[in-house]
Order: sequence, then structure tokens, then C-alpha cells
Amino acid sequence: MSKGLEGNANRGVRELGAEEKVGWDQVSQGVVLNSFVGETENPAFLKPEERAYNDFNSYTATVASWRIIKPVYNRDICIDCQNCWVWCPDTSIISRDKQMLGIDYDHCKGCGVCVEVCPTNPKSLLMFSEAEGAETALANWPEKKKKEK
Ligand code: SF4
Ligand code: SF4
Repeated sequence: MSKGLEGNANRGVRELGAEEKVGWDQVSQGVVLNSFVGETENPAFLKPEERAYNDFNSYTATVASWRIIKPVYNRDICIDCQNCWVWCPDTSIISRDKQMLGIDYDHCKGCGVCVEVCPTNPKSLLMFSEAEGAETALANWPEKKKKEK
């Protein structure tokens, strides 16, 4: 049963007022990038959309164009273990109050790490073609695998 929460509704560069996303190819090699504008105290206690990110922070920038396959999330199987949130290298798993909400497709690069670390049977995250719709992907979800004797 879906909890009716859209992951991307909670996060994204558009929400921050940045119309143009910054690509990593616009950043010179070796440059030091400050994550925030000005002094920021304890950003870990703020939600991402409440932090004052600068234009070159990986929150404001995006590597989403690298993606040719994407993770699709199946709420019905997820046990909210947070493994995917811990391991995602692009902080693209959206979780609030230890509840998995979905994928931030503005930032996900399609590496598949989240799928690898998902412990459920079948997995609650699976990689599909970038062009695949979520509804079709969910309709084609594999059945639970039986243990081999
Ligand atoms: S595919 Fe990679 S970047 Fe995208 S959500 Fe999963 S771990 Fe994060
Ligand atoms: S790793 Fe799998 S089961 Fe755990 S929170 Fe992520 S999607 Fe849910």
C-alpha cells in the first residue's frame, strides 16, 4: 500500500530557486568548493532544503544526466532499514524520520549501489531503463525468491 508520498516533492534544485543546474564539467579541476554560502552552523540539523547551499554544492549541481538506468522504489516491500540512504554516494535517497520516501531523480546518477545494499526479498529498489515508467516497473516486479536447499 503506497503511503502517498512523492520523494521529489520534498527536495530539488527548483525548490531552491536555481533555474539552471550546474554541471560538473563547469567546475575547474582542483578547485576547492565550499558547500554553503557564508557561515553555517550545524547544517546536519537542518533539512537539505533549509540549508544555504552554494551554486557548486552537489545539492545544487547535478550528475543526473549521467544516468541511463534508474532505480525504481517499491514501497510495498521496503522495511525502512535505511541501508540505501546510508550507502548512496549522491545523497539521492530521500528519507524523513527514518522513513524511506523515494529517489531524488534530480541528483541520482544511476550507479545502482542502493539496489545492491537493499536486503529485502525481492529487493525494494531495482534498476530499470531510464525510459521505463514507474507503474510499468512496479507491475513487472519479481516474486520473492525461495531459499535454495
Ligand atoms: S542509483 Fe546510485 S545515485 Fe541513484 S539513488 Fe541509487 S545509490 Fe544513489
Ligand atoms: S535498503 Fe531497501 S528495504 Fe532498506 S530502506 Fe532502502 S529500499 Fe527500503
